[in-house]
Amino acid sequence: MKLIDGKEIAQQIKNEIAAEVGVMIDNGEDGPHLAAVLVGDDPASHTYVKAKEKACKEVGIVSSLYQLPATVTENELFEVVDYLNNDDQVDGFIVQLPLPDHIDAKKIIDRINPAKDADGFHPMNFGRMALNLPAYIPATPYGILQLLERSKIETQGKHCVVLGRSHIVGSPISILLSRKTYPGNATVTVCHSRTKDLRQIAKSADILIVAMGQPEFVTEDMVKKDAVVIDVGIHRVPSDKTKSGFRLVGDVKFDEVSKNASYITPVPGGVGPMTIVSLLMNTLKAHKKEIYG
Ligand code: NDP
Repeated sequence: MKLIDGKEIAQQIKNEIAAEVGVMIDNGEDGPHLAAVLVGDDPASHTYVKAKEKACKEVGIVSSLYQLPATVTENELFEVVDYLNNDDQVDGFIVQLPLPDHIDAKKIIDRINPAKDADGFHPMNFGRMALNLPAYIPATPYGILQLLERSKIETQGKHCVVLGRSHIVGSPISILLSRKTYPGNATVTVCHSRTKDLRQIAKSADILIVAMGQPEFVTEDMVKKDAVVIDVGIHRVPSDKTKSGFRLVGDVKFDEVSKNASYITPVPGGVGPMTIVSLLMNTLKAHKKEIYG
């Protein structure tokens, strides 16, 4: 079994980005600039945004933060999005989800200029991605592609089973791996809460990607010998073995499944570190105007 070390791969990519940004700065050019819009007081969102700011700083990307109260109206948020759409200093930006219930996140995402959509959530980018046209790819699936590519894992002709069909992970990664390219050219099956015989389908996978949000759902009996297992899930569960009283687990029962897998991502240190790095890659692309010219 080979561990896919997301932390190490994320660091390699950060080094590559830092080198490229360093050359821009040395040449007297502006570096990339990522802005984030943060609404309300959700602690997890604050943690994510802080981590994104830290990662930007590490590679020399300028970051700015627009913090708004949970009471902000949809129209006020539109104004912030419009402002960032028109600010030439900002290459890309994200609106951190979830948004408060009185705001329709779909409308806000629709308002983002697709050329600045660093999260790759705009329908234009999703459609272009499906058509295999240049597009911003959502961060977590983009991170998974990097893990597969940099671990030199063959995807062509493989049966890839994706457990989960969310718009941010399951659905885009299933599209990406069925595209006529590398990583891709796989035969993809998507499973969800209405799927019959999910366990048997999972067991037929050469590559199993799990994004269900169910702690340690995937057990040894659901995984074929020598399968590649990518675990997207991340959960804090009570533990009497750690000082904090918690430990982090994925959607896969790692101890069991790692015995049979040929490659597997750990939790933490697998897919997680790749998500933020993908956002940095998208910001660099935005700065270089690689997608929309
Ligand atoms: P969602 O809750 O949006 O989607 C979960 C998907 O799994 C849905 O399609 C759902 O089916 C399916 N599902 C849930 N339970 C079952 C079940 N018992 N049987 C079959 N299908 C089931 O989750 P996300 O995609 O947003 O996230 C998945 C996990 O990944 C979470 O743990 C999240 O925290 C983690 N995550 C980690 C990231 C990282 O950077 N490491 C980034 C993003 C997410 P249906 O559609 O029918 O409801």
